[in-house]
Amino acid sequence: MEITEENIRKIHEKLNEVSPVDYDCGKLCGEICCVYDSEEFPNDDLIIYLLPGEETLYENSKSFELKHFKISEIKYPHSWKDGVYTVKCTNPPNCEREIRPIQCRTFPLIPHITKDRRFHLIFDDSQYPYRCPLIKDNIKLNDDFVKETYKTWRFLLKNRLVYDLVDMDSRKRENRKIKYKKII
Ligand code: SF4
Ligand code: SF4
Repeated sequence: MEITEENIRKIHEKLNEVSPVDYDCGKLCGEICCVYDSEEFPNDDLIIYLLPGEETLYENSKSFELKHFKISEIKYPHSWKDGVYTVKCTNPPNCEREIRPIQCRTFPLIPHITKDRRFHLIFDDSQYPYRCPLIKDNIKLNDDFVKETYKTWRFLLKNRLVYDLVDMDSRKRENRKIKYKKII
């Protein structure tokens, strides 16, 4: 299944209606998940990898620096033969919220596929070089956010490239015996 602009627009609409918690969790941590790769903490660890089809949203945006990497430059599944697009936010934590990437909208939940091919959303703080208080303190997320995020990733997994990427990350997580918490 190809991810179309129409699909992305609908996902944005659905995810706009929900949020992880009913308060501004950025106040807990100084919006660390947005500013970690800013000038204050310069590094390239946290460029945001886009899903196939998302890149068209950022071609003319001043809030995001769009880059493309060839498959030979990144450790991605072979099916991503056309490479991967990334964005770096130019003025975090401010951004054009209406086009922020799906990975931002579903954070801090991560899709995971178990060995027996079951799909879950998990907390895994080993993925990030900073501590997200929602994960660290195991804060309960809003049910509607968890549900919409689950539906979104379940749909996205119908795309072969997304599936291969989530599967690759999941196998790494399990092979390295990384502890994660299943949320749904
Ligand atoms: S999602 Fe986590 S890291 Fe990001 S602003 Fe909220 S509490 Fe902070
Ligand atoms: S796109 Fe927006 S929400 Fe996502 S990391 Fe950048 S500044 Fe934060």
